[in-house]
Amino acid sequence: MHAEIVMIGTELLLGELVDTNANRLAKALREIGLDIYFKTTVGDNEARITEVLNLALDRSDVIITSGGIGPTVDDVTRQAVANATGRKLIYRADLEAQIAERFRSFGREMAENNKRQAYIPEGALPLSNPAGTAPCFLSEDIRGRGFIISLPGVPRELEYMMKHTVIPLLVERMGGAKVTKIRILRTCAVGESNVDRVIGDLMATKNPTIGLAAHAGQTDVRMTAKADTVAEADTLIASLEAEVRQRLGVAIYGVEKETVPEVIGQLLSKENLKLGVIDTLTNGLMSGQLIDAGFGDLIPVNLHSIGVSAALQKAGLASQADARDGDYQALAMDLAEYIAPSGGIGFALVGPFKDNLTFIALWGPGDMRLTKAGRNYQDSEYIRKWLAIQGLDWIRRAALGQLTSPADWKE
Ligand code: ATP
Ligand code: MG
Repeated sequence: MHAEIVMIGTELLLGELVDTNANRLAKALREIGLDIYFKTTVGDNEARITEVLNLALDRSDVIITSGGIGPTVDDVTRQAVANATGRKLIYRADLEAQIAERFRSFGREMAENNKRQAYIPEGALPLSNPAGTAPCFLSEDIRGRGFIISLPGVPRELEYMMKHTVIPLLVERMGGAKVTKIRILRTCAVGESNVDRVIGDLMATKNPTIGLAAHAGQTDVRMTAKADTVAEADTLIASLEAEVRQRLGVAIYGVEKETVPEVIGQLLSKENLKLGVIDTLTNGLMSGQLIDAGFGDLIPVNLHSIGVSAALQKAGLASQADARDGDYQALAMDLAEYIAPSGGIGFALVGPFKDNLTFIALWGPGDMRLTKAGRNYQDSEYIRKWLAIQGLDWIRRAALGQLTSPADWKE
C-alpha cells in the first residue's frame, strides 16, 4: 500500500504560506511504514483539484488531502473529491447537526455558509473533527482505485485528526502496524559522487532502502528499514550498515546527529590527546567550529587563530621577504610543532604567501609530520568552507591514527 499527499491552497502555490502540513503528514505516514511516492500542491480550483485527485487515484492506494474543507466558496475540496471518486455530493443532516452543536458549544450561532460543510461525497465515511468545525471524511473511489481522506488545512486540526483518527484507521487498513527504523551514517570530505560510486549498487535494495543527502562538505547515508517489529528492523539495518561501513571505512565519521568537531572532541579525550590549531586560511571557520563544540576545555591555551606575520614571529622566523617555497613549507611544519601540546596534535593552515601559496602541516603522535602545499585556498567563501571541513577531517583522521603518511593525506 502506498500513499500520496495533495496539498490544497492557492496561498501555498503563491509562496505566501510555508507548507508545514506536508512535512507533518509525510512524517506521520513514514512512521507507520506507509510509502509516499508523490506529493502535489494545487490551488483552490475545483477542476484542477479533480484532475490531481484523479491522477493520484490512478497511481496510489491512499490519498490524503489537506485544506479547502472550510465554509467559504473557495473551499472546493469536497466537490473535487466527489468528482474524482465518481460520487455525488450529498447533504447530510447529521453533519449539519454536528456542526451546529460544535458552534453551540463555543457559545456561537452557526452561520448559513457553514451548511456547505455538511455536504460530503455520497457513501463517504464522516470523520468527526473535535478540533474544529469542518467534518473530515473518507471517500472510496467508485471504480475501486483506492480512497481519499480529506483533512483541514489548519495545522492544529490536521495534526489532531492524523493522530487520533487517520493513523489508527490506516494502520488497521494496512493489517497492523509496521515499524520504520532510520539510521544515518555521516561522512565528511568525500563528496556525494564518491560515496555514490562506492555504495551506489546498494541503492537498488527495497528493504532496507538507502539514500544520500549532501550538505556543506558532508554526505549522509540514510538507511530505512521496515519490519513488523523493532528487532527485525534493527537486524535489517545492522547488516546493511556493516556492508556500508566496510566499503566507506574511515570516511564515516559518525552517526545520527553527530558533528565532526564533536567526534574530534570524543576522540581526543578518549586518546587523551590535546590539539593546537593555527588557522589563517578559513577566516576562523575551522577553529570557530571547534570552539562551538566546546573545545575551550580540551585545549585551553593552544587554540590560535592569528595572522601570518604573528605566526612567523611566534615560530621565531624573521620575515617573508626573501623566503622560498621550501622555507614556507618548513615554516608550516615549525608552526604545527610549535602549537602542538605535548604529546598532542598540532595543525597549521597558513598563508597565503607569495603567489598565493598556502601550506598545511600536521605534527603529532606516532611521529606524524605531514605538510602539503596548496594554492588559492583563501580565494572564496566556498573554498574556505570546503577547507574548514577538510581540515577538520584531517584532524579527525590524525586523532584516529589513520593519517600517518603522505599517501593517507587525501582531499
Ligand atoms: P478553514 O475551515 O479554516 O477554511 P480549510 O480546511 O478550508 O480550513 P484552508 O482554508 O486551506 O483550510 O487553510 C486554513 C488555514 O490553515 C490557512 O489559512 C493556513 O493558515 C493554514 N494552512 C492551510 N494549509 C496549510 C499547510 N499546508 N501548511 C501550513 N498551514 C496551512
Ligand atoms: Mg478554507
